[in-house]
Amino acid sequence: MKEIILLKDGELALKGLNRRTFEDILMKNIRQRLRHSVGEFKFTRSQSTCVIAPVDENIDFDKAVDIIQHIFGVVGISRAAQCEKDIEVIKNTALEYLRDELSFARTFKVEAKRSDKNFPYNSPQICNEVGGFILSHLHHLKVDVHNPDVKVTVEVRDNHAFIHGNQLKGAGGMPTGTGGKACVLISGGIDSPVAAWMMAKRGLSLTAVHFASPPYTSERAEMKVHELLKKVARYCGRIDLYTVPFTEIQENIRDNSPEDMFTITMRRIMMKIATRIAEDKDCGALITGESVGQVASQTMWALRCTDDAAGLPVFRPCIGMDKNEIIEISRKIDTFDISIEPYEDCCTVFTPKHPRTKPTLEMAIEAENAAWDDELVNTAIANAKHLAIH
Ligand code: ATP
Ligand code: MG
Repeated sequence: MKEIILLKDGELALKGLNRRTFEDILMKNIRQRLRHSVGEFKFTRSQSTCVIAPVDENIDFDKAVDIIQHIFGVVGISRAAQCEKDIEVIKNTALEYLRDELSFARTFKVEAKRSDKNFPYNSPQICNEVGGFILSHLHHLKVDVHNPDVKVTVEVRDNHAFIHGNQLKGAGGMPTGTGGKACVLISGGIDSPVAAWMMAKRGLSLTAVHFASPPYTSERAEMKVHELLKKVARYCGRIDLYTVPFTEIQENIRDNSPEDMFTITMRRIMMKIATRIAEDKDCGALITGESVGQVASQTMWALRCTDDAAGLPVFRPCIGMDKNEIIEISRKIDTFDISIEPYEDCCTVFTPKHPRTKPTLEMAIEAENAAWDDELVNTAIANAKHLAIH
């Protein structure tokens, strides 16, 4: 039985602004992701629906469905059987194709859409034929036209009939790329992958910067970041990651900046390096996983000092969230189990016993000046490793 995917206008997050441009970008995103992970698909648009059909019948269709469901901009999809426009074939296809889904249901209804007006049955007749046929085979079912467990939809179009059950939920959000590009400062922690996902959901495509301090931080810590970004990339597609060697800069901060200002200084330098990389890659903002009050470097006063060092707007979508709320999202997007693997992040290297929680901007600038070294910073940026994550 040939299966296809139907994307209807109502199932796409394309309201407002540039509907057409958004749709083009979304279709391009879907095509690229399918091509990259499953294979070639043919896209056909007709009557406010896009039909996505595999070119090769042997592709992994379940995987294709899963991929499309996770793409930002897709609110829902319908996975459908395609069959000949013959009422007997339609009845049998509906029963076979939806047998599993219907066997778990108590109630159902059939809805028919007939765009081919030459088809010998009108919509109410199609509903009667198909509904009656299903009832005569699955005796546990009852019809409920108002609130059915399963809505069986039969669409008779120009060349084929399509049959599908309930719509599958998509990731929602805006199509990636419709909001420009931003650079996430990604650690191996719980918060920054969630922050990345939340901003990508608003249509931003992502570049990522990660600071690594070997041998204080391990290769496993870097791989953890790759794994985390892979999870986020399921929703937003390719992410270009730049891993910046940070050891010497951190040692230099430890040796030259007041101990209680270590973390603030480090975070200011991270912001400056991230800004340089972000601007070079045409990003319009930075993203972090910071949340007010979570740790000493995330008090309002500390954040002022960090913010001041950034040369771009800093998006902090977790800023007002409780840890539990952040964790809830991380579980939903499947990053939580990776985040809690116990590999050290550079932020926990050399952390002072008594970090200053109410630094002033003047103190922060003075501490940074004492530890700033142009050459170290330039070398770190020049030696950043690039990896494209899909
Ligand atoms: P996370 O769970 O995201 O690690 P956190 O609560 O542990 O956050 P910090 O370690 O203070 O907080 O880091 C605050 C933010 O700084 C992170 O959310 C992230 O955006 C950024 N950050 C921390 N460590 C790194 C790193 N090694 N490389 C890049 N960015 C980092
Ligand atoms: Mg952290």
